Amino acid sequence: MLAVCVDVGKTTTRVGVYDEDWIVIERSPTSDIATGTKTEFLTGLEKQIRTSVSSQGIDKESIDRIAVAAPGPIDSVSETAYFLHDEPIGIETLSSLAPTYLVNDATCGAVAEHRLGNHDTDDILYVTISTSIGAGVVLGGEIVQGWRGNAGEVGHLKLTDCEIPCPWCDGIGHWMAACSGSQLPALAKSVADKDISEASELFAAATSGETDALAVLDRMHAHNAEALTQLTNILNPEVVVLDGGVVLNNEQEMLEGIDQHFGTGCFNSYPHIEIANLGDRSVLEGLRIICTQSTGMAPIHS
Ligand SMILES: [Zn+2]
Repeated sequence: MLAVCVDVGKTTTRVGVYDEDWIVIERSPTSDIATGTKTEFLTGLEKQIRTSVSSQGIDKESIDRIAVAAPGPIDSVSETAYFLHDEPIGIETLSSLAPTYLVNDATCGAVAEHRLGNHDTDDILYVTISTSIGAGVVLGGEIVQGWRGNAGEVGHLKLTDCEIPCPWCDGIGHWMAACSGSQLPALAKSVADKDISEASELFAAATSGETDALAVLDRMHAHNAEALTQLTNILNPEVVVLDGGVVLNNEQEMLEGIDQHFGTGCFNSYPHIEIANLGDRSVLEGLRIICTQSTGMAPIHS
């Protein structure tokens, strides 16, 4: 079965053609196809798909499925994504090529780490901390997607000790308003009146022993631990898998920091907290597992 899998990230879009194995995976900056109106975006994405397929000498008529992973929130029923433009993007227009699926990208990450990672469990909470924060859930070996594909959309979870405005909504003190990579400058300003332009500066300053940077990181770890503790109470995962640029660039710091704060108010057994294994292919791998397995979703538009 020939599946075209598209991982639309904030910065990079990956198009992979899968037929028993990956035939090709091509990457391009999302900004190259995300400019202009939603119609232009979808036209650009369709062109990208056609180019990737024809570069391998494959007739587009032989594409069985097109699966698109996008950051949440999404609407998997109407196949609508909201992340790039103010107006929603309906990927059903791609169904002129083949039946389409839309999946939350963090769900794909959770599925990939469950099936292909080295975590040895059927109960995973997958959390990615990068530009924003998202999560995916596999419980009892089953993918948990929710009514419209947004189970695990945890970024707006309210922290108890945070007053930072959330740039993605009108709320205050949301998890990703404080702890996502793009918001760590806001956290540094809030906690220590410290000016940084990007997350890597904060970690470098802490490594150099700057006390204000260490205080900011300690607050970040406390916030992350609080959110993960709440999610542990709700979901009872055996393993929490951490992924995303903020984690992967600072693995030891993140694991040790969260470990120091995790558990206050936790009424379930503490999960193992581990780092993701699969690198930047995890979303594509999860996507092709979801769209090719016989028990997966039926295509909405065919
Ligand atoms: Zn929010």
